[in-house]
Amino acid sequence: MKTIGLIGGMSWESSKEYYRIINEEVKNRLGGLHSAQCILFSVDFAEIERYQANGEWDRAGAVLANAASSLEKAGADYIVICTNTMHKVVSEIEANITIPVLHIADATVKQMQEFHIKKVGLLGTKYTMVEDIYTSRIEACGIKVLIPDREEIDRLNDIIFKELCLGTVKQDSKEFYQKVIRNLVDRGAEGIILGCTEIGLLVKPEDAEVPLFDTAVLHAIEAVNLAMEE
Ligand code: GLU
Repeated sequence: MKTIGLIGGMSWESSKEYYRIINEEVKNRLGGLHSAQCILFSVDFAEIERYQANGEWDRAGAVLANAASSLEKAGADYIVICTNTMHKVVSEIEANITIPVLHIADATVKQMQEFHIKKVGLLGTKYTMVEDIYTSRIEACGIKVLIPDREEIDRLNDIIFKELCLGTVKQDSKEFYQKVIRNLVDRGAEGIILGCTEIGLLVKPEDAEVPLFDTAVLHAIEAVNLAMEE
């Protein structure tokens, strides 16, 4: 089994989901007392969030590049960045290590292709929705990406940073996400990317009438697929 290098803490509410899913998946596949061989480097999210808000992406990138390098030195075979937003600095991270990064968008595209999705709605932080963190990477695979409108984006983003990243799950926030999902479906979305690793804590597959592509789950499972490869 390969050693998975996880960069977490963004937020730790979703990192613990990665840790749980990766271990459950290994146990399901190998049985008994088997569990994942992995190393977690968990950063201080307050520092990263401050850099994001100030647009200091190079500083945030340097923190994560340093974390990735530590994971490589500790024996990780590849890196899993447990957040969508911070894939904005994936090239800075890749430049600092010799092991590969398992990109969150690639794991998600793989699943969307199995569902033959051609048009998808993207929910995430305002950075992920508005900036091209990986939208063009998905569209290059023939899947058109729709994003919510401006006022919706602000509230979706606030719910992530002021509630979900702090471990707070509220019914009215869930209903708001469901409303935005319905709006995207009305515009032609055949599925929805839960493009923030905390959204799955709020919205479950049964809360929507179209398939939900939960990036945290898909990324964690892909990490296990790679760990099991010969
Ligand atoms: N975990 C979130 C994501 O997947 C948001 C936290 C962050 O800004 O990194 O984008």
